[in-house]
Amino acid sequence: MEKIIPHCLCGSRKVKKLFSSGEYTIMECLACGQVRTESSDKEKRKNFYGAADISVYIEKEAMFRQLFGHVIAFVKRNLASGKLVDVGAGVGLLVNEAIKAGFDAIGFEPSKVSVVAAKKYFGISLLSTLFDKRKVKSVDGVVINHVLEHVENPKILLSDVADSILANGYLFIGVPNFGSFMAQLKKGRWQSLIPDQHWWHFTLSTLDALIIPFGFQRVGATYENHDRAMHPWWKRPIYGILDTMALATGKGEAMLIAYKKL
Ligand SMILES: [Zn+2]
Repeated sequence: MEKIIPHCLCGSRKVKKLFSSGEYTIMECLACGQVRTESSDKEKRKNFYGAADISVYIEKEAMFRQLFGHVIAFVKRNLASGKLVDVGAGVGLLVNEAIKAGFDAIGFEPSKVSVVAAKKYFGISLLSTLFDKRKVKSVDGVVINHVLEHVENPKILLSDVADSILANGYLFIGVPNFGSFMAQLKKGRWQSLIPDQHWWHFTLSTLDALIIPFGFQRVGATYENHDRAMHPWWKRPIYGILDTMALATGKGEAMLIAYKKL
């Protein structure tokens, strides 16, 4: 089968191979350093958009509410109230937490199954597309949480999102951190690599390079690590030390970044 070599977000086709993960190859752009997944199989690439698994949100609702509560707490540190939009809202739990925290919040979700589940299980109405700037003008903040890495062309989405945010408004982006200790240590076995779903793998600097040209300035960052409870007890102390160091140095496995519109 013909090998597909798409170009980078910067337009360059020059790449170097970093490592393999199963049938996928993780490539780094030689021009800008952006890392991406490549697959030789066209059908596999369609899976990058992977339909959300609804059952996990219903079974682990409390855990997700806690996670999204942390996201909203981070939002609150920058933006106290106002019109907040969640892009890729899943079953609407983050929107619900935002409303509870006093925001005028709405969500967009491209998966019809998720939109139906949001209404059925949680009573939350979502707009059934990834984003539509005609439907949300003059917003104070937009959250794009663990969505950007799934989108084939994030620049199209970000351009529309930037248009809808007021001057001095905020964009909050949550993505796995390819620059984390664990990503660098585990490479193709890193828990958040998920090459069959993640098109792009961001570090803080490649995320900045993508977002800042749309008229933003980075104003905040917070990091998280995966729960280590699944590791054997004798490995936990070393992971505990690594985790503490990682969070202190911006090397945590997930990053949540605040950008302010100029
Ligand atoms: Zn590039």
